[in-house]
Amino acid sequence: MRHIPLPKDEHSEAFDACLSNMTDQNSIKNLKNSKKYILEAGDIFIEKINAGTLSTILPSPIINGIRLKESMVKLYKDKLSKKGQPGREFYDKWRSISPNNRCPLCSVQRVYTLDHYLSKADFPIYSIFPLNLIPACRDCNTEKLSHIATKYAEETLHPYFDNIDNDRWLYSKVNETIPATFSFYVSASPDWNSEMIHRVNKHMEVFNLHELFTDHAAEELSNIILRLNNLFCIGGAEAVRIHLGECLAGCENANLNSWRSATYRAMYQSTWFHSNGHQV
Ligand SMILES: [Zn+2]
Repeated sequence: MRHIPLPKDEHSEAFDACLSNMTDQNSIKNLKNSKKYILEAGDIFIEKINAGTLSTILPSPIINGIRLKESMVKLYKDKLSKKGQPGREFYDKWRSISPNNRCPLCSVQRVYTLDHYLSKADFPIYSIFPLNLIPACRDCNTEKLSHIATKYAEETLHPYFDNIDNDRWLYSKVNETIPATFSFYVSASPDWNSEMIHRVNKHMEVFNLHELFTDHAAEELSNIILRLNNLFCIGGAEAVRIHLGECLAGCENANLNSWRSATYRAMYQSTWFHSNGHQV
Protein backbone atom coordinates (compact mmCIF):
# COMPACT_ATOMS: atom_id res chain seq x y z
CA MET A 1 0.00 0.00 0.00
CA ARG A 2 1.19 3.48 -0.78
CA HIS A 3 -0.01 6.82 0.48
CA ILE A 4 -1.42 9.13 -2.22
CA PRO A 5 -2.49 12.77 -1.95
CA LEU A 6 -6.08 13.59 -1.04
CA PRO A 7 -8.26 14.62 -3.96
CA LYS A 8 -10.00 17.97 -3.68
CA ASP A 9 -13.28 17.51 -1.79
CA GLU A 10 -15.71 18.21 -4.65
CA HIS A 11 -18.56 16.22 -3.16
CA SER A 12 -21.10 19.01 -3.62
CA GLU A 13 -20.01 19.84 -7.18
CA ALA A 14 -20.05 16.17 -8.24
CA PHE A 15 -23.47 15.67 -6.62
CA ASP A 16 -24.94 18.62 -8.55
CA ALA A 17 -23.36 17.46 -11.81
CA CYS A 18 -24.79 13.96 -11.39
CA LEU A 19 -28.29 15.35 -10.80
CA SER A 20 -28.10 17.80 -13.70
CA ASN A 21 -29.51 15.51 -16.41
CA MET A 22 -31.65 13.16 -14.32
CA THR A 23 -35.23 12.84 -15.49
CA ASP A 24 -36.92 10.96 -12.60
CA GLN A 25 -38.54 13.87 -10.78
CA ASN A 26 -39.22 11.88 -7.61
CA SER A 27 -35.56 10.83 -7.30
CA ILE A 28 -34.39 14.37 -8.04
CA LYS A 29 -36.64 15.73 -5.30
CA ASN A 30 -35.54 13.15 -2.72
CA LEU A 31 -31.86 13.55 -3.52
CA LYS A 32 -32.01 17.35 -3.49
CA ASN A 33 -33.80 17.31 -0.14
CA SER A 34 -31.11 14.96 1.24
CA LYS A 35 -28.05 16.76 -0.14
CA LYS A 36 -27.36 18.48 3.18
CA TYR A 37 -27.27 15.10 5.01
CA ILE A 38 -25.13 13.51 2.33
CA LEU A 39 -22.55 16.31 2.53
CA GLU A 40 -22.61 16.24 6.33
CA ALA A 41 -21.95 12.50 6.20
CA GLY A 42 -18.75 13.33 4.29
CA ASP A 43 -17.61 15.57 7.14
CA ILE A 44 -18.39 12.81 9.64
CA PHE A 45 -16.38 10.33 7.54
CA ILE A 46 -13.30 12.62 7.70
CA GLU A 47 -13.74 13.25 11.42
CA LYS A 48 -14.10 9.55 12.22
CA ILE A 49 -11.36 8.20 9.99
CA ASN A 50 -8.93 10.70 11.53
CA ALA A 51 -10.03 9.55 15.00
CA GLY A 52 -9.77 5.84 14.10
CA THR A 53 -13.49 5.33 14.63
CA LEU A 54 -14.74 4.88 11.05
CA SER A 55 -16.01 1.40 11.90
CA THR A 56 -18.64 2.97 14.18
CA ILE A 57 -20.50 4.14 11.05
CA LEU A 58 -23.19 1.53 10.53
CA PRO A 59 -24.45 0.29 7.14
CA SER A 60 -27.83 1.76 6.21
CA PRO A 61 -29.96 2.09 3.07
CA ILE A 62 -31.78 5.05 4.67
CA ILE A 63 -30.76 8.69 4.24
CA ASN A 64 -32.79 11.54 5.74
CA GLY A 65 -35.52 9.06 6.68
CA ILE A 66 -35.93 7.81 3.09
CA ARG A 67 -34.65 4.64 1.44
CA LEU A 68 -32.19 6.17 -1.00
CA LYS A 69 -29.82 3.22 -1.45
CA GLU A 70 -30.92 2.46 -5.01
CA SER A 71 -30.89 6.13 -6.04
CA MET A 72 -27.39 6.68 -4.64
CA VAL A 73 -26.00 3.53 -6.25
CA LYS A 74 -27.54 4.61 -9.57
CA LEU A 75 -26.04 8.06 -9.11
CA TYR A 76 -22.60 6.45 -9.03
CA LYS A 77 -23.20 3.88 -11.78
CA ASP A 78 -25.25 5.91 -14.23
CA LYS A 79 -24.05 9.47 -13.66
CA LEU A 80 -20.56 9.45 -12.13
CA SER A 81 -18.77 6.45 -13.63
CA LYS A 82 -20.56 6.15 -16.97
CA LYS A 83 -18.78 7.64 -19.97
CA GLY A 84 -20.53 10.68 -21.43
CA GLN A 85 -22.47 11.43 -18.26
CA PRO A 86 -22.09 14.76 -16.39
CA GLY A 87 -20.27 13.33 -13.34
CA ARG A 88 -17.67 11.51 -15.39
CA GLU A 89 -15.18 14.40 -15.33
CA PHE A 90 -14.98 13.96 -11.53
CA TYR A 91 -14.61 10.18 -11.85
CA ASP A 92 -11.74 10.61 -14.33
CA LYS A 93 -10.07 13.23 -12.16
CA TRP A 94 -10.27 11.09 -8.98
CA ARG A 95 -9.22 7.94 -10.78
CA SER A 96 -6.06 9.55 -12.16
CA ILE A 97 -4.74 10.84 -8.83
CA SER A 98 -2.33 7.96 -8.14
CA PRO A 99 1.28 8.54 -9.31
CA ASN A 100 2.20 6.54 -12.43
CA ASN A 101 -1.37 5.24 -12.50
CA ARG A 102 -0.29 2.53 -10.02
CA CYS A 103 -2.94 0.99 -7.75
CA PRO A 104 -2.17 2.32 -4.24
CA LEU A 105 -3.80 -0.72 -2.58
CA CYS A 106 -1.36 -3.30 -3.98
CA SER A 107 1.36 -1.01 -5.46
CA VAL A 108 1.62 -3.51 -8.30
CA GLN A 109 -1.08 -3.26 -10.95
CA ARG A 110 -2.54 -0.45 -13.03
CA VAL A 111 -5.47 1.63 -11.84
CA TYR A 112 -8.65 0.54 -13.59
CA THR A 113 -11.53 1.85 -11.52
CA LEU A 114 -12.54 3.62 -8.30
CA ASP A 115 -12.95 1.40 -5.25
CA HIS A 116 -15.46 2.35 -2.55
CA TYR A 117 -13.62 2.17 0.79
CA LEU A 118 -17.05 1.87 2.43
CA SER A 119 -19.04 -0.10 -0.13
CA LYS A 120 -21.86 1.66 -1.95
CA ALA A 121 -24.14 -1.34 -1.35
CA ASP A 122 -23.80 -1.07 2.44
CA PHE A 123 -23.01 2.62 2.83
CA PRO A 124 -24.85 4.25 -0.10
CA ILE A 125 -24.57 7.70 1.47
CA TYR A 126 -20.87 7.57 0.48
CA SER A 127 -21.48 6.42 -3.11
CA ILE A 128 -19.98 9.53 -4.69
CA PHE A 129 -17.98 10.95 -1.76
CA PRO A 130 -14.49 11.57 -3.23
CA LEU A 131 -12.56 10.59 -0.08
CA ASN A 132 -14.38 7.24 -0.06
CA LEU A 133 -13.33 6.56 -3.66
CA ILE A 134 -9.85 5.12 -4.11
CA PRO A 135 -8.16 4.56 -7.48
CA ALA A 136 -7.73 0.78 -7.69
CA CYS A 137 -6.78 -2.01 -10.05
CA ARG A 138 -9.39 -4.50 -11.16
CA ASP A 139 -8.15 -7.24 -8.81
CA CYS A 140 -8.09 -5.10 -5.67
CA ASN A 141 -11.54 -3.80 -6.46
CA THR A 142 -12.83 -7.36 -6.82
CA GLU A 143 -11.02 -8.90 -3.84
CA LYS A 144 -12.41 -6.42 -1.34
CA LEU A 145 -16.09 -6.60 -2.27
CA SER A 146 -17.49 -8.20 0.86
CA HIS A 147 -15.20 -6.82 3.56
CA ILE A 148 -16.86 -4.71 6.28
CA ALA A 149 -14.71 -3.72 9.28
CA THR A 150 -16.47 -3.85 12.65
CA LYS A 151 -13.51 -2.42 14.57
CA TYR A 152 -10.47 -0.25 13.84
CA ALA A 153 -8.07 -3.20 13.76
CA GLU A 154 -10.07 -4.74 10.89
CA GLU A 155 -9.94 -1.67 8.68
CA THR A 156 -7.83 -2.04 5.56
CA LEU A 157 -5.38 0.77 4.90
CA HIS A 158 -6.79 3.90 3.32
CA PRO A 159 -4.24 5.43 0.92
CA TYR A 160 -5.48 9.00 1.53
CA PHE A 161 -5.41 8.86 5.33
CA ASP A 162 -2.81 6.21 6.26
CA ASN A 163 0.82 6.94 5.56
CA ILE A 164 3.33 4.23 6.54
CA ASP A 165 5.52 4.68 3.46
CA ASN A 166 8.58 5.67 5.51
CA ASP A 167 8.33 2.74 7.92
CA ARG A 168 9.82 -0.56 6.80
CA TRP A 169 7.06 -3.13 7.30
CA LEU A 170 7.02 -5.57 4.37
CA TYR A 171 9.53 -8.41 4.55
CA SER A 172 10.21 -11.57 2.62
CA LYS A 173 11.94 -14.80 3.54
CA VAL A 174 13.93 -16.97 1.14
CA ASN A 175 12.70 -20.55 1.22
CA GLU A 176 15.76 -22.73 0.63
CA THR A 177 14.42 -24.72 -2.28
CA ILE A 178 15.72 -25.12 -5.83
CA PRO A 179 14.61 -22.84 -7.35
CA ALA A 180 14.25 -20.58 -4.32
CA THR A 181 10.77 -19.33 -3.41
CA PHE A 182 9.70 -16.41 -1.23
CA SER A 183 7.23 -15.95 1.63
CA PHE A 184 6.08 -12.46 2.54
CA TYR A 185 5.21 -11.21 6.01
CA VAL A 186 4.54 -8.00 7.89
CA SER A 187 6.64 -6.83 10.82
CA ALA A 188 5.56 -3.85 12.91
CA SER A 189 7.51 -0.62 12.92
CA PRO A 190 8.41 0.52 16.49
CA ASP A 191 6.29 3.66 15.92
CA TRP A 192 3.06 1.77 15.28
CA ASN A 193 0.24 1.47 17.78
CA SER A 194 -0.85 -2.06 18.64
CA GLU A 195 -3.72 -2.03 16.13
CA MET A 196 -1.73 -0.97 13.07
CA ILE A 197 -0.05 -4.37 12.71
CA HIS A 198 -3.52 -5.96 12.59
CA ARG A 199 -4.67 -3.44 10.00
CA VAL A 200 -1.68 -4.03 7.73
CA ASN A 201 -2.09 -7.79 8.01
CA LYS A 202 -5.81 -7.40 7.30
CA HIS A 203 -4.95 -5.30 4.25
CA MET A 204 -2.59 -8.03 2.98
CA GLU A 205 -5.25 -10.68 3.57
CA VAL A 206 -8.25 -8.83 2.09
CA PHE A 207 -6.39 -7.92 -1.11
CA ASN A 208 -4.71 -11.33 -1.35
CA LEU A 209 -1.30 -9.67 -1.54
CA HIS A 210 0.80 -12.58 -0.22
CA GLU A 211 -0.07 -14.59 -3.32
CA LEU A 212 0.38 -11.64 -5.68
CA PHE A 213 3.80 -10.78 -4.24
CA THR A 214 4.96 -14.43 -4.22
CA ASP A 215 4.09 -14.76 -7.91
CA HIS A 216 5.95 -11.56 -8.81
CA ALA A 217 9.00 -12.60 -6.78
CA ALA A 218 9.12 -15.97 -8.57
CA GLU A 219 9.02 -14.22 -11.93
CA GLU A 220 11.71 -11.75 -10.87
CA LEU A 221 13.99 -14.62 -9.88
CA SER A 222 13.49 -16.30 -13.23
CA ASN A 223 14.45 -13.01 -14.92
CA ILE A 224 17.71 -12.55 -12.99
CA ILE A 225 18.84 -16.15 -12.52
CA LEU A 226 21.13 -16.19 -15.56
CA ARG A 227 22.83 -13.00 -14.39
CA LEU A 228 23.29 -14.46 -10.88
CA ASN A 229 24.75 -17.63 -12.37
CA ASN A 230 27.28 -15.61 -14.42
CA LEU A 231 28.25 -13.55 -11.39
CA PHE A 232 28.69 -16.68 -9.28
CA CYS A 233 30.94 -18.28 -11.93
CA ILE A 234 33.11 -15.15 -12.11
CA GLY A 235 33.25 -13.95 -8.52
CA GLY A 236 31.52 -16.53 -6.32
CA ALA A 237 28.96 -15.85 -3.61
CA GLU A 238 30.42 -12.45 -2.77
CA ALA A 239 29.86 -11.15 -6.32
CA VAL A 240 26.21 -12.26 -6.08
CA ARG A 241 25.82 -10.55 -2.71
CA ILE A 242 27.31 -7.25 -3.94
CA HIS A 243 25.07 -7.23 -7.02
CA LEU A 244 21.95 -7.92 -4.94
CA GLY A 245 22.92 -5.11 -2.57
CA GLU A 246 23.11 -2.64 -5.47
CA CYS A 247 19.71 -3.75 -6.77
CA LEU A 248 18.23 -3.52 -3.27
CA ALA A 249 19.39 0.09 -2.86
CA GLY A 250 17.66 1.05 -6.12
CA CYS A 251 14.41 -0.75 -5.19
CA GLU A 252 14.27 0.76 -1.71
CA ASN A 253 14.92 4.20 -3.10
CA ALA A 254 11.79 3.84 -5.25
CA ASN A 255 9.55 2.17 -2.64
CA LEU A 256 10.71 0.87 0.74
CA ASN A 257 7.82 -1.60 0.98
CA SER A 258 7.36 -2.90 -2.54
CA TRP A 259 7.37 -6.67 -3.12
CA ARG A 260 10.58 -6.06 -5.08
CA SER A 261 12.36 -4.31 -2.18
CA ALA A 262 11.32 -7.08 0.20
CA THR A 263 12.46 -9.75 -2.25
CA TYR A 264 15.88 -8.17 -2.89
CA ARG A 265 16.36 -7.59 0.84
CA ALA A 266 15.66 -11.27 1.51
CA MET A 267 18.05 -12.39 -1.25
CA TYR A 268 20.74 -9.93 -0.09
CA GLN A 269 20.56 -11.12 3.51
CA SER A 270 20.53 -14.87 2.76
CA THR A 271 24.01 -16.42 2.66
CA TRP A 272 22.38 -19.63 1.43
CA PHE A 273 20.94 -17.72 -1.52
CA HIS A 274 24.30 -16.17 -2.49
CA SER A 275 25.66 -19.67 -3.14
CA ASN A 276 22.51 -21.48 -4.25
CA GLY A 277 20.05 -18.88 -5.59
CA HIS A 278 21.35 -19.15 -9.15
CA GLN A 279 20.49 -22.85 -9.34
CA VAL A 280 17.46 -24.08 -11.28
ZN1 LIG B 1 -4.35 -3.25 -6.77
